[in-house]
Amino acid sequence: MHLIPIPAFADNYIWLIHDGQDALVVDPGDAQPVLDTLQSLGLQLKNILVTHHHADHVGGVALLRERTQAQVTGPAGEDIPQPATGVGAGDQVQALGLNFSVMDVPGHTAGHIAFYCEAFEGAPLLFCGDTLFSGGCGRLFEGTPAQMLHSLDQFAALPGNTRVCCTHEYTLSNLRFARAVEPGNEALAHYQSQCEALRAQGQPTLPSTISTELAINPFLRSRQASVVQAMQAREAAADEVAVFAALRGWKNVF
Ligand code: ZN
Ligand code: FE
Repeated sequence: MHLIPIPAFADNYIWLIHDGQDALVVDPGDAQPVLDTLQSLGLQLKNILVTHHHADHVGGVALLRERTQAQVTGPAGEDIPQPATGVGAGDQVQALGLNFSVMDVPGHTAGHIAFYCEAFEGAPLLFCGDTLFSGGCGRLFEGTPAQMLHSLDQFAALPGNTRVCCTHEYTLSNLRFARAVEPGNEALAHYQSQCEALRAQGQPTLPSTISTELAINPFLRSRQASVVQAMQAREAAADEVAVFAALRGWKNVF
């Protein structure tokens, strides 16, 4: 089994899994880069998984379905290109012989879901859409800070070696913000230099891992004393949801 991030648009990744013959893709915002990859590797697209309804995640679904007859699976609670199998928390999705557990992770959008595969080439794998980014999290377009905090808490509880397949290369700008929140976090400083080196070579910074994100991502660290103190210095935040909301608000204008 192989895992490949296909670059799309300015900073999206369309994740593709294949076994040398059959393939699945996650959040194909554009069809052409996927069709090119299928052709160059000689693959049949069998499944399309969708995490949420935004155009940069579903824009390629109709053409890919037309060309490949791939099955589409996505959030039951969102308006995505039909026909699609709608799924939500606790549902299991079988694709390419892999089993994915569906998680409800509202916040970025109201019906956003994630796909978690417990066993992929020796370690778990998470397709989290625009909920979690390396060093950051998605903007709250449709959900509340409390919902997003709960969604990120579900990810934080996954095994540390879970590979996190985020759908945008936002890492370096997220890490500049993270350094402003936690200037004393040495793991963060080290990770930032690693990611800068990767980007300088044109390499993706992804996938990340849950353990890396727990060490460096302020949105997964919003209960850590260093993050709470940084936020209290900016504004009075009465509880953990208020701290998280203040953090997300600061990032919006950073
Ligand atoms: Zn989005
Ligand atoms: Fe997106």
